[in-house]
Amino acid sequence: MSTAPHPLRERGIAILADLVGFPSVSLRPNGDIVGHIEAYLAGHGIACRRDAHEDGDRFNLLARIGPQAEGGVLLSGHLDVVPADAAGWTQDPFRLRRADGRLHGRGAVDMKGFLAMVLAMAPEFQARAGALREPLYLAFTFDEEIGCFGAERMPAFLARAGATPRIAIVGEPTGMTPINGHKGGMELVTHVRGAAGHASKPGQGVNAISVAARIIGFINETAAACAASPAAGSPFDPPFTTLSVGTIHGGEARNIIPDTCRFDWEIRAHPGDDPHRVLDQVTRFIADEVVPSMRKEHPACEVVTEMLSDVPPLATRDGSAAAALIARLWTNQPPSVVSFGTDGAYFQQAGLDVIVIGPGGMAQMHQPDEFITEEAMDEGLLFLGRLCDEMCGQG
Ligand SMILES: [Zn+2]
Repeated sequence: MSTAPHPLRERGIAILADLVGFPSVSLRPNGDIVGHIEAYLAGHGIACRRDAHEDGDRFNLLARIGPQAEGGVLLSGHLDVVPADAAGWTQDPFRLRRADGRLHGRGAVDMKGFLAMVLAMAPEFQARAGALREPLYLAFTFDEEIGCFGAERMPAFLARAGATPRIAIVGEPTGMTPINGHKGGMELVTHVRGAAGHASKPGQGVNAISVAARIIGFINETAAACAASPAAGSPFDPPFTTLSVGTIHGGEARNIIPDTCRFDWEIRAHPGDDPHRVLDQVTRFIADEVVPSMRKEHPACEVVTEMLSDVPPLATRDGSAAAALIARLWTNQPPSVVSFGTDGAYFQQAGLDVIVIGPGGMAQMHQPDEFITEEAMDEGLLFLGRLCDEMCGQG
């Protein structure tokens, strides 16, 4: 790293302060931060398109710099942040605080820092738009943190916009380490409705907790079957699809047969595995084995499984142009894999070659007093400057 601050550092920090000031927690309307970014880009002669969620309150944003042409590089970041419980913070989480080379605020590292660097650099790209050999796209999404709901719409949004970028760089904070794969993330909640009764006469009720236990037993068997057939040569730890039950709630008192029980569970699919196939095994067991035996006792009994999110895996690809680009611009370190999902999976679905790399530390994500360092801001700006040179044929 150079020791002198990057010339655009202060511009980036000022933009970051603005972005952190919008409490763009997932699921909340985000028209304010989107409007702010649109106005900023418009001020530099860069037009944006919005893609509105059906509720009309949450938007993806897409901008193009350079020629309207095939190909291009897409820089992606999410606009939403995880909630910030003020109790854990030494400051207002939605006001950027600068201290000792660190910039604190909710989203500072995940991932408004990257958005701020991209926006700080956008006028430089725009000034050289005529020299760009292919377009640069900025694609900002909503609701990444709760299931990549904005990114899920991106393949269709890009198609409508006539945008066909070939490479996506997802700027999640990886400490500028390239990542080219992750498992999928399917979040589920299962509700069991049995029939209440007095515990002294178990035969007169249908114990929802016992039914849940039976289903969970099957989930565990399914998990064991996945573990028994690991993917050969997998870079993941563990090298197979995992299933896990995280919470369970049910019952009122020891002497009452519980009529309801719910549990949260998840399937993290190894790339190449279809999480829907795994889910089908469980739902078929419920439909064929569990529900009929409950209904023999009480016809109103039922089991309902809701899917809260379904982020596909990001599969690693050999001969990746995205990985080669990162090797030219930044590091020869071979890409690795992570255990958390990203918007990148949907860009891969859209046919882009995806790499996840961004400044700032993963350890600071989702933490109270979340921060990015000024040095990390410099790194990101340096990286984007090199990308601009490369795309102008001067790399
Ligand atoms: Zn993130």
